[in-house]
Amino acid sequence: MEIIEKAPAKINLGLDVVDKRADGYHELEMVMSSVDLADRLILEELAEDKIIIETNKAFLPVDKRNNVYQAASLIKKRFGITKGIKIKITKNIPVAAGLGGGSTDCAAALRGMVRLWDLQISMEELIEIGMEVGTDVPYCLYGTTAHIAGKGEVVTPLKPMPQCWVVLVKPRLSVSTSKIFQQVALDQLHHPDIAALSEAVLAEDYAAMLAAMGNSLEAITIPKYPIVQQIKDRMLKYGADTALMSGSGPTVFALCQKYSRAQRVYNGLKGFCDEVYLVRTLK
Ligand code: ATP
Repeated sequence: MEIIEKAPAKINLGLDVVDKRADGYHELEMVMSSVDLADRLILEELAEDKIIIETNKAFLPVDKRNNVYQAASLIKKRFGITKGIKIKITKNIPVAAGLGGGSTDCAAALRGMVRLWDLQISMEELIEIGMEVGTDVPYCLYGTTAHIAGKGEVVTPLKPMPQCWVVLVKPRLSVSTSKIFQQVALDQLHHPDIAALSEAVLAEDYAAMLAAMGNSLEAITIPKYPIVQQIKDRMLKYGADTALMSGSGPTVFALCQKYSRAQRVYNGLKGFCDEVYLVRTLK
């Protein structure tokens, strides 16, 4: 039997770095939403006790450095499963881009294994396992628009964000999330009002949502990679309702309620960067 799972990318409508914890992690407050740009996982049981990961991107590791391998290993151990598993990942989400690609693959693998082996496991336990792989995995297990706090483990689903078009632009560079976080100086960051953003999403108020959106980490990533600001400026010039960096970057996304505007932004950016996507928000 084969199980197919879709693994959508996430965008950060808001990201605030609230505090630095004694264990070195940063306390975050975020609002994330998923978009219709997704990887695809196919899971298949193997008679032999081994984990095989296959992917269409040659540069991705397929051993225990792959988040999906880690998910399979943790589930097999937790449930004492002696059968093996093969997971084929078709990657469409750009890697190391701020779109949570590895985390959403991990969450999809966890969901898929629950179905494949009919596992009795609570969401809390799945989140605990997911946190061992990455701090964005708990959000990806929910996948709707949500408020996220703590290190990433406290997820409160909100209403779906107001429907709109999303133009994603990934410049040709990769950003290491941990390197960006190493440079965080809390007093030098802009702190978006995440409570106001959550309220705007709950009220389905698009204008209020735009007004409250913001990302603390732009202050660190943009001076290092000025192209991020150039992309934002271009998106606004072509008529985007707003433009913001996702996660620690370097992907920038524009929101547009009108399709004609989204197309204009898409076409305007297509000549500037190779990786440009025009997608919808997910319900
Ligand atoms: P985030 O927004 O959560 O910081 P990201 O989108 O910036 O994540 P990823 O695409 O998850 O970053 O990739 C980060 C690193 O994780 C890469 O260096 C990659 O080699 C590794 N990785 C491990 N497993 C995967 C996977 N299944 N898909 C993508 N990257 C993976």
